[in-house]
Amino acid sequence: MTITSTEPMEAVKRLSEAHRVLLTCHLNPDGDALGSELALVELAGELGVETVVVNRDPTPANLALLPGADRILVGDELPENFPEAFDLVVTVECPGLERSGFEGLTRVPIVNIDHHPANPAYGVVNYLDEDAPAVGEMVWKMFAEAGVWPSADAATNLFVALTTDTGDFRYSNATGRALRAGAEMVDAGAEPAKVAEWVHGNRSVAAVRLLGEALRTLRLDCGGRMAVVTVDQEAFRRAQAGPEDTEEIVNVPRSIAGVEAVAFLKQWQLEEVRVSLRSRGDVDVRAVAVDFGGGGHQNAAGCTLTESLKEAEAQIAAALAEAIEVTG
Ligand code: 5GP
Ligand code: MN
Repeated sequence: MTITSTEPMEAVKRLSEAHRVLLTCHLNPDGDALGSELALVELAGELGVETVVVNRDPTPANLALLPGADRILVGDELPENFPEAFDLVVTVECPGLERSGFEGLTRVPIVNIDHHPANPAYGVVNYLDEDAPAVGEMVWKMFAEAGVWPSADAATNLFVALTTDTGDFRYSNATGRALRAGAEMVDAGAEPAKVAEWVHGNRSVAAVRLLGEALRTLRLDCGGRMAVVTVDQEAFRRAQAGPEDTEEIVNVPRSIAGVEAVAFLKQWQLEEVRVSLRSRGDVDVRAVAVDFGGGGHQNAAGCTLTESLKEAEAQIAAALAEAIEVTG
């Protein structure tokens, strides 16, 4: 029997009954995924449960400062002693198991913790809450449910999760609930100024150069309602940058007056174009991403196309223009 709930009770119960847990999150991990994982390591530890954290993709440089981030293992393969040495898998922010980038996770019972819409509840326990501002806020509730007082490090990790997913409490998910959780985390020892410095004051010079490369390609369309920026392999080379240096790029065109939707396309490998979509208001970029095999939220989504950059740009721009048109 599987259990699905918007409340943390069953997830906490299942976690506390485990002996050794494999924790993992989605490809290209973000602050919410990583902060939540690291706080779960602490919660599990307090419950007497061992944990191993394995992510397919590396931790972005600015998030490597999160307390405990050095214990995250990164690689294409699950640990050699998986599955026999584990009795539980916890997936964080994986609205489908394939988002982990690993195969074979189902050989062990799964607790699935997520706030994305349309998570298919693939776990034995599914702690799913679309209204949660961040998975970090859901993990915060797990501490309370377990009766475990979070350390300042756990509060800090979860504050990173909450602030990165709400755009520093600026997006539509910056609800009263989000701010209340944030206030509790600060009371428990999270320092907003320090976290902001890690997240925003820590960019590589390559990332800033790459931003310049991206902005040179800026194109506005749909009467100024749509913006498209791209980064091709040449631009990566000129900026001496890598895929991890692209984090903030999509937010710059989004800040232009009148722009309702942005597509940022990056081509790191030939014939593989990674697309980040952002919108303001009613434009549903998740629907666009889903059409191309991706997913996400209404105002932030992504997908990957196996096309040339030029072809991918044409297809995405057409789909995004249509999504803008239907909102009137
Ligand atoms: P980003 O543009 O920052 O990579 O992703 C924005 C949002 O879309 C995040 O919530 C992320 O989880 C989701 N997302 C990005 N790419 C994909 C994808 O390929 N598949 C799914 N299901 N979600 C994605
Ligand atoms: Mn999230």
